[in-house]
Amino acid sequence: MTLLFPPGLTAETQTLTGWGRTRPVSAQVLRPASLEQLQELIREAPPRSLIARGLGRSYGDAAQLRDAAVIELTAFQRISLDPATATVTAGAGVSFNQLLREIVPAGFFLPVTPGTRNVTVGGAIAADVHGKNHHIDGSFGNHVRGLLLVDGHGHLRDLQPGGDSSAEEHAMFWATIGGMGLTGVIVEATFSLIPITSSLISVDTMRFQDLEVLMAAMVEADSHYRYSVAWVDSLDPRGRGVLTCGDHAPAVQLDPSQQGDPLAYDPKALASAPPFLPGGLLNKLTVRAFNEAWFRKAPKRRVKELQAIAPFFHPLDGVQDWNRIYGPAGFLQYQFAVPDGAAHLVPRTLEALRRVGAPSFLTVLKRFGPSNPGLLSFPMPGWTLAADVSAAVPGLLDVLNQLDEEVAAAGGRLYLAKDSRQLGAMVRRTYPRLEEWQRLRAQMDPRGVLDSDLAQRTLA
Ligand SMILES: Cc1cc2nc3c(=O)[nH]c(=O)nc-3n(C[C@H](O)[C@H](O)[C@H](O)COP(=O)(O)OP(=O)(O)OC[C@H]3O[C@@H](n4cnc5c(N)ncnc54)[C@H](O)[C@@H]3O)c2cc1C
Repeated sequence: MTLLFPPGLTAETQTLTGWGRTRPVSAQVLRPASLEQLQELIREAPPRSLIARGLGRSYGDAAQLRDAAVIELTAFQRISLDPATATVTAGAGVSFNQLLREIVPAGFFLPVTPGTRNVTVGGAIAADVHGKNHHIDGSFGNHVRGLLLVDGHGHLRDLQPGGDSSAEEHAMFWATIGGMGLTGVIVEATFSLIPITSSLISVDTMRFQDLEVLMAAMVEADSHYRYSVAWVDSLDPRGRGVLTCGDHAPAVQLDPSQQGDPLAYDPKALASAPPFLPGGLLNKLTVRAFNEAWFRKAPKRRVKELQAIAPFFHPLDGVQDWNRIYGPAGFLQYQFAVPDGAAHLVPRTLEALRRVGAPSFLTVLKRFGPSNPGLLSFPMPGWTLAADVSAAVPGLLDVLNQLDEEVAAAGGRLYLAKDSRQLGAMVRRTYPRLEEWQRLRAQMDPRGVLDSDLAQRTLA
C-alpha cells in the first residue's frame, strides 16, 4: 500500500503486537507533529491504511494494522488542570502515568483507572476502560465532558455527550467511547476528576477459602466501598481468593507523621512490592507455587491498611516487561462480562481453564454497575472475570470457543481491548448496538481509512 505522507512526516517501520505478544505485524509508525499534519495525513490516506495507537496495552490486535500504518499521538501532550471545576484537559498521547504526577499533588485522582497506568488518554477513551470502581463510577467514558476528534474525512469534530450540540454529534461521541479508534483519531479530551485530600487508600483485605463465599462478599462490598477487586486462585478447585476493597483516605485520618505531605505521589518508590511474579517462564508448577504464596501472603482479614496509589491500583507496573514470561507464543486474556443471573459462568470458566491445563496467575474478578450509552462499551451490570493464559496451551481455543457460546447465551460479551481471537459472529451476537455503531462509523469515515486487525477480524 502506498501512503502519501504530508511534508515533514517521517515513517519508521516496526514490528508491532499487543500486550499479549501474539500476532506480530510489520507496520509503519507515524507521529504527526501537529493537528494540521494529522488532518492532512488522514485526508490523503487511502482506505484501510491507518489506525491510532497509544501505548499498546490492549492485549490483542486493536492497535495494529498489518502492512499499513499506525498513528502515535506523542506530540499531543498538553495537560491543563482546572481545579475549580475538578476537570482536566489532556492531549490524547498523555499517559495516565504523566497525569497522575500532575493531578495527585494538586488534590485530584483519575475518575477511572485500569490495572496499569501505562495507557494513554486516547486509548482509555477508545476502549472505554473500567477500573475497580465500575459499580460506583461507571467506566472512563462516563466522565468525559468533551473530546476533539479528527474523523475519516480529516475534519476536526468537537464532540460532547449531551448538551447544546446536535443529536447526531451526541451519537458520534458515544460511537467513539469504546469505538476502538475506528470513528477517528482522538486528539484531546476534557474529563472530570475525583477530588482527594490524601494520596493514600484505606484498604480492607479479606481471604476466602471458597469462591461462592467470596462472590457473596463482593456483592455485599458493592454498597460499602468505592473500589473492590478479587484475585482468584485459578488452580484451586474450590476457587479460594483474596478480596481487596478500598476508598480514598481523608487526610484528617492520617497519622501525624503522614500529614506533612498527604498528597505525595512517587510511584517508583512506592511500587517496591514484594516480587509479584513467579520467576522464569511460566508453567503449571511455577503458577501453583506462586498462587499458594500469594494466597498465604494475604491476611485472613485486615482493615484500614493505608496503601499508596501504585501498589493498590497498578501493582504489575512495578515489574517491567512482565508480559515476556509467557515465552515466544505470547498469551491472551479471556475477559467476559455477564449479568448477575449468569454468575455460575465464573466457576464454570475457571473449571474449564483448569481442565485444559491453562494455569493463570492473574485471575481477577470484579463487579460491574450500569452500562453507559457507549455503543460498543463493554461493561454491563453483573460480573467480569479476566484470566491471563498462555497462548501455547493445546486445546485452549476449543475450550474458549465453547465458553464464548455460554457467555453469549447468558447475555454476556467479551472485552474488545483484551480480545485476540473471537470472531465477528460472536461480536454481532453480543453487542446489540453494533449495527447502529457501524452506521455511524460509515458516516464518520465513509472511505474506511481507519481500520485495524481487530476490526477486520470482528467488526467488518
Ligand atoms: C496490565 C494491564 C492491566 C489492564 N487492566 C485493565 C483494566 O483494569 N480495565 C480495563 O478496562 N482495561 C485494562 N487493560 C487494558 C487497557 O486499559 C486498554 O487496552 C487500553 O485501551 C490501553 O491503552 P493504550 O493507550 O495502550 O492503547 P492501545 O492499546 O495502543 O490502543 C487501544 C485502542 O485504542 C485506540 N486508540 C489509541 N489511541 C487513540 C486515539 N488517540 N484516538 C482514537 N483511538 C485511539 C487504538 O486504535 C486501539 O483500538 C489492562 C492492560 C494491561 C496491560
